[in-house]
Amino acid sequence: MKSKYINFIQDKNYEKLKAPAEAIKQGKLVLFPTETVYGIGADALNEEAVKKIYIAKGRASDNPLIVHIAKMEMLDRLVENVGNIEKILIKKFWPGPLTIVFKKKKIIPNIITGGLDTVAIRMPSNLVARKLIEYSNCPIAAPSANISGKPSGTIVEDIIDELDGKVEYVIDGGKVDIGVESTVIRVVNGIVHILRPGKITPEDIEKLNIPVHIEKQILGSYKEGEKVMSPGIKYKHYAPNTKCILVYSKENDKMVEKINSLAQNKKTVILCTSKNIEKYNSEIKLDMGQTLEEISQNIFTLLRKADKYKADLILIEGVEKTGLGLAIMNRLIRASAHEFIEI
Ligand code: AMP
Ligand code: MG
Repeated sequence: MKSKYINFIQDKNYEKLKAPAEAIKQGKLVLFPTETVYGIGADALNEEAVKKIYIAKGRASDNPLIVHIAKMEMLDRLVENVGNIEKILIKKFWPGPLTIVFKKKKIIPNIITGGLDTVAIRMPSNLVARKLIEYSNCPIAAPSANISGKPSGTIVEDIIDELDGKVEYVIDGGKVDIGVESTVIRVVNGIVHILRPGKITPEDIEKLNIPVHIEKQILGSYKEGEKVMSPGIKYKHYAPNTKCILVYSKENDKMVEKINSLAQNKKTVILCTSKNIEKYNSEIKLDMGQTLEEISQNIFTLLRKADKYKADLILIEGVEKTGLGLAIMNRLIRASAHEFIEI
């Protein structure tokens, strides 16, 4: 059966969210927008409902989910203790794209945390997401809306084919604001460990005089059996079906030259910044935009679009790994399965 579709693009009537909120209460799944990417949500305290998320996505059972809340009272019900640094981060960045890992209370089913004794929590700023949580009166467990391994959904059109019928409701809020998933952090001995980079950057946190450690696996590859702070790091992610190569040089001309040489004699799709688009010889070029904000909004949808050309190769321009660039490069390195040329 097809999912019920709610258009929330032109007519922003929050009353329309009452039916999907009721579905959440009844243990069903709802696809909804957040400011980062679309999510597939279920009542976080209902084990059977959460199980459906893993089945819908084909997600590994040891890859834990983020729990979304709308009010601070919800946090106290779910976690053991909120430390001082976490309090500072919450005050500064919630509601918003920062996920914090806490010691969990028993009320959180193990299925959400992949058996860990911690739980990842975030308060989204997107009002559709917040109202849905409020109306259902449940914390909502929600991973990114995509089949596991594929690029995350930033517009409903990209994901409807793979998820239609697997959720009770689809709430279409148009294109999301940010386009990459939330920053995931955990505080250990007074240091903020970045487990996944996002819109809230290491620099944003350092500005609060809090020391930051960037987990090396963010940009490197995971080796079988290696200890990880964030289980998601172990899995293939964000990848189109077509082979991708990511290329970056601080010297723009060198990067363009390398991409042009790799594109020779092959059917290629090039994902590039606006300023370089005229410099490539390839027939198919997709414009990522120019600023890091534009690139982050566009990358997932362009990776999916690039796949449609059934080319031999997708070549992608990299960006500097600072600020939001760290999150963009984390996604692109993984999308290209670590085929990354830095010159
Ligand atoms: P997704 O929902 O697909 O955006 O992925 C959620 C991310 O949060 C994954 O990378 C998980 O590894 C990470 N995560 C969720 N819960 C925890 C936790 N308890 N400890 C560490 N990382 C977590
Ligand atoms: Mg995901």
